[in-house]
Amino acid sequence: PINCEPLKSLVRTVPDFPKPGILFYDITTLLKDKAGFAQMIDAFAAYYIDKDVDLVLGIEARGFIFGPALAYRLNAGFVPVRKPRKLPAATAKVTYDLEYGSDSLEIHLDAVQPGQKVVIVDDLLATGGTMEATTQLVRQLGGIVVGLGFAVELDFLKGRAKFPDYDVYSLLHYN
Ligand code: 5GP
Repeated sequence: PINCEPLKSLVRTVPDFPKPGILFYDITTLLKDKAGFAQMIDAFAAYYIDKDVDLVLGIEARGFIFGPALAYRLNAGFVPVRKPRKLPAATAKVTYDLEYGSDSLEIHLDAVQPGQKVVIVDDLLATGGTMEATTQLVRQLGGIVVGLGFAVELDFLKGRAKFPDYDVYSLLHYN
């Protein structure tokens, strides 16, 4: 895999966002850097190019930002996984627990055909709850998850442990 460590200097950390005590990893500063953005997509593309990917799934909202660029490079389609009541046609829905309360994600029922190979992307892996819910949606539809891709992984939260059966690839790791 391509060494992405130099891209760390382009990720901005914002203290106390969205709540006091949370350190937020902001990738907008990476996305707006033309060399940085290209390296980010190149790294994902190099990793997935030989995996015969049919679809890239992006999780709302930040998975929408770079998922389509990756899909284009892989000659794959792009599928949005969205917050409730945003998708117009019939959907599958999954509800998952948050620290306080719960959240849901939806996908169009016809977005993934049984047997299609899927890579799911999001900007950041924290506890893994969001991604785990999304893998459930793909399994419901009969898709094959060939990879979980993240720009940033917070290693200390051990979200990766939720995915013993999946290939987890993150460009940047923080401890
Ligand atoms: P998890 O479900 O793994 O606990 O949280 C990951 C989800 O929350 C992702 O959808 C991600 O976009 C968002 N998230 C949580 N913390 C951060 C952060 O520090 N930076 C960014 N960019 N997203 C975060």
